Amino acid sequence: MPTQSQITASTCCYCGVGCGVLIEHDGEKILGVAGDPSHPANFGKLCSKGSTLHLTGDLDARALHPELRLGKGLARSRTDWDSALDHAAAVFAETIREHGPDSVAFYISGQLLTEDYYAFNKLARALVGTNNIDSNSRLCMSSAVVGYKRSLGADAPPCSYEDIEQSDCLLIAGSNMAYAHPVLFRRLEEAKARRPEMQIIVVDPRRTDTCELADLHLAILPGTDVALFHGILHLLLWEGWVDRRYIDAHTEGFAALKNLVRDYSPAATADICGISLDALQRCAELIGRAPSFLSLWCMGLNQSSSGSAKNSALINLHLATGQVGRPGAGPFSLTGQPNAMGGRETGSLSNLLPGHREAGNAEHRAEVAAYWGVDTLPETPGLSAIELFDAVHDGRIKALWIACTNPAQSLPNQNKVHEALAACPFVVVQEAFFTTETCRYADLLLPAASWGEKEGTVTNSERRVSHVRRAVPAPFDARPDWSITCDFARRLETLLRPGLPSLFDFTSAEALFEEYKFLTAERDLDLSGLSYALLDDQGPQQWPFAPGARQGTARLYADGRFPTASGRAQFHADPYRAPKEKREARFSLTLNTGRLRDQWHGMSRTGTAARLFGHVEAAVLGLHPDELRRRRLQDGDLVRLRSRRGSLILPVQADESVRPGQAWLPMHWGDRFLKGLGTNVLTQPAFDPLSKQPELKHAGVEVDKVELP
Ligand code: SF4
Repeated sequence: MPTQSQITASTCCYCGVGCGVLIEHDGEKILGVAGDPSHPANFGKLCSKGSTLHLTGDLDARALHPELRLGKGLARSRTDWDSALDHAAAVFAETIREHGPDSVAFYISGQLLTEDYYAFNKLARALVGTNNIDSNSRLCMSSAVVGYKRSLGADAPPCSYEDIEQSDCLLIAGSNMAYAHPVLFRRLEEAKARRPEMQIIVVDPRRTDTCELADLHLAILPGTDVALFHGILHLLLWEGWVDRRYIDAHTEGFAALKNLVRDYSPAATADICGISLDALQRCAELIGRAPSFLSLWCMGLNQSSSGSAKNSALINLHLATGQVGRPGAGPFSLTGQPNAMGGRETGSLSNLLPGHREAGNAEHRAEVAAYWGVDTLPETPGLSAIELFDAVHDGRIKALWIACTNPAQSLPNQNKVHEALAACPFVVVQEAFFTTETCRYADLLLPAASWGEKEGTVTNSERRVSHVRRAVPAPFDARPDWSITCDFARRLETLLRPGLPSLFDFTSAEALFEEYKFLTAERDLDLSGLSYALLDDQGPQQWPFAPGARQGTARLYADGRFPTASGRAQFHADPYRAPKEKREARFSLTLNTGRLRDQWHGMSRTGTAARLFGHVEAAVLGLHPDELRRRRLQDGDLVRLRSRRGSLILPVQADESVRPGQAWLPMHWGDRFLKGLGTNVLTQPAFDPLSKQPELKHAGVEVDKVELP
């Protein structure tokens, strides 16, 4: 029976700002939502997405019961959990016995809670014996992971949100944070209003809403960020604005970098980047003279075939100026998803292991294997997202488990991904919303609990761990992700390792957290001092948080020591490389894809709230008015937008925020909404050689008018 209205403190399930929310409910149904004034990420603020969370629980879109089909082309039928999971365990066990552990794979999500991630990781590595577990964070943050690790020694953003407010000079690169991280942007707006002398530089090919706050906007040509950062360093050196004492005391590799950036003269850099010399010089001066300098970045740097080089080139600027580990200073990547950080911590990319360990490191594998009580962990490198779906496409992966993500919409080169899913012998989709494009390919659909219905923890962009609390029960048969995963794992272990004690004897999310946290003990991210009780008592905390700590750690590397072999940060001298697809006559426009203010990812949740279509109703292609004139197009004309991989039909509009020669399209729309497949039918699967993150933000395209009959 519903009781009186109650309030449960939890977090927003959208972006990596990680805002605290107060869920109003009657014990059965969520009635409303408000910002949590006590949460240190948002102090009561919510953006348009967060404040409409209670309007997105539409049961018509929810997966409510397990559904199984017993042959391709047949319809799925409702089944019960025992039958569903027994069937899945039998198929996985048979596939593993017949084709080996690397014939199965798990593709999971930055939307999952830390406990869910941990269960999946243990399932893949300890029980199945494969490193074929990757996450949609590969599309989002893997270049930042590599950048931090190779430059600073650990995947740890060193700053806090309050540094954004304290900084004298902020460089925002490849991030429309006004749309993608709105509450953090509001904090920045308020700080700028209090301290107008704060200087804000925005680097973005497009004039986004974030530029409204900028003192300087550098509309660089797409993909030229590495050249820009090297050109800035060239000027910093020329003007004597580098910190020699810091470089000598705390870093290595500067000589090679100094040698490289000689080639990035102001004239050469301005030419590569398509900006004026004055703008470049002003940017270098703002950074060089700033008492404190902080950079923020997101997909514009990460989603690139040179994403790792872009991250390191930006971090180079901080190391060269000694702007790390001080108030208002440091390189601070913004995470896209609510718990992409938790995924990185638990080792949910194919090359990682829990506790910021490496799957390719024998010592790390031995440590985790010993903790889990298994003989060994697999050595064979796992497949990253693009490689994994290529392996599904060519038949190497024969059983695929997808949880809480929609690769049929979000991966680049969508036609190939759809072909892969259609051909895969057994696809399990564990999902809260049955409406996603990926669910169509599910041989087994497992209904998952969603926001407000499950418990666990998440880590936001500033390394802050929050306790996510359950307000209401999940509808009908839906279950928390960790519970589905552990239930499946227990059934699979009776087939793969009969008679042995269970590795998955967890009865709550908290039990998973309690096991997981000790895998982080005495490592850079030490969470072992945290517990649900402590988070409830003292509120969300930043890691590292060792046992006995009184509070989390706001700022890293204040002592100038870095977790590298030498204790010094590393400069990296990567030359600028152009994006993979060049402009050419057949594809004369460069397509950039990005986010809208009121939609989230593939719109499985935000697409259920009519109010969120008030800002932008439908996908529209943005082209500079000169490009419309050149092609004799009018606002609203229907066009076919095509790349080397596919095409879409949609309206075009004049957009002065886009430079001539470029095109802009939101990334949210899939084939539920667009003629043809979704936006990502156009994007390319080329990826960064180190991070394996695909170049989703850069594709050669062309536009043709569609003549209506
Ligand atoms: Fe949610 Fe991000 Fe908006 Fe905060 S800023 S309410 S976390 S979407």
